[in-house]
Amino acid sequence: MKIGILGGGQLGRMLALSAYPLDIRCRFLDPANEPSAGQVAECVQGEFEDYRVLFDFARGLDAVTYEFENVPVESVRWLAERLPVYPPADALAIAQDRVAEKLFFRSLGIPVPAFAAIESREEFDDAIARIGLPAVLKTTRFGYDGKGQAVLRTPDEAGKSWELLGGRPLILEAFVPFERELSIVCVRGRTGETAFYPLVQNVHRGGMLRRTTAPAPNVELLQVKAEDLAGRALAAMNYVGVLAIELFDYCGELIVNEMAPRVHNSGHWTTEGAQTSQFENHIRAIAGLPLGGTQAVGHSVMINLIGDCPTATEMLNVPGTHVHLYGKMPRANRKLGHVTLRGTSAEETATHAGRLEQLLQ
Ligand code: AMP
Repeated sequence: MKIGILGGGQLGRMLALSAYPLDIRCRFLDPANEPSAGQVAECVQGEFEDYRVLFDFARGLDAVTYEFENVPVESVRWLAERLPVYPPADALAIAQDRVAEKLFFRSLGIPVPAFAAIESREEFDDAIARIGLPAVLKTTRFGYDGKGQAVLRTPDEAGKSWELLGGRPLILEAFVPFERELSIVCVRGRTGETAFYPLVQNVHRGGMLRRTTAPAPNVELLQVKAEDLAGRALAAMNYVGVLAIELFDYCGELIVNEMAPRVHNSGHWTTEGAQTSQFENHIRAIAGLPLGGTQAVGHSVMINLIGDCPTATEMLNVPGTHVHLYGKMPRANRKLGHVTLRGTSAEETATHAGRLEQLLQ
């Protein structure tokens, strides 16, 4: 079996590595000439919008998926007319537009922050009057890792952020004074079978994920709520594959921030820390295979290696460490790899994670 994957970054690389033991091969399509996934699998270089390239890419494939959220929906639809494509193009279209995404969750009765779609200065002023400050202004499309967004605390900051982001389709969201950020990674198979990983707790800095603790502490009730909302979202989209939903824990309630229709950075711990990794479960779902168990095995902390990283030897000297390097050249704010620390207790793992974070400073 051969699966085509749109996007050849580290997520694709890890998908390909988990496909090999199942005797499933992957072929990537990426505009870059040396993408991370190209080091481990066949890679076609070309633009996602080029239909001749898509035609060549699709030849001999059994199914197609994507690891990159900003692939054009039209290209995904074009492929879906020719062969099975999962997750469905409609899910991608929802995830690409923050307004559509909020409307989708709201239509299911799932809490999202108060928001307003904005296309003009007038609508911006009206939205601030209605939602109040602090608020978060975001581009509706193509934002990632905190790019294309600003927190507005004062009218002065609001004016400045309009100068920076105005002119593009925007969304203004109420600022949620959350206690912590959580996420749930879940998976739905071709037959409608679902499985949910434990909620994890995420720490972001500068808009980028830095650390994930898995499972998140004290989430018994929240796990039930998260699985319920995620299950409804999966069913509503007739979804196939892995879906990640980022959540704010606010006064014991879960508020959806956003979703990613793909394997997710906050699920990287599953490679060592869960019965089946998110990557393998995505491949299993796409391939129509039974899903694997999603239970945690011990306690894990995942730390992203961003911009620069210590040597593998230094990192591996910390007990319980598993190093994943993506074969990318160091650059400021670039995700170069991640480390998962797994232990038998949350305390032990947190202590080792602290040692690793000291190395990163
Ligand atoms: P996003 O790109 O939407 O995931 O936002 C990046 C990060 O900004 C989130 O992980 C939060 O830490 C923060 N953030 C985004 N939206 C809000 C909000 N409405 N209220 C408070 N913090 C937010």
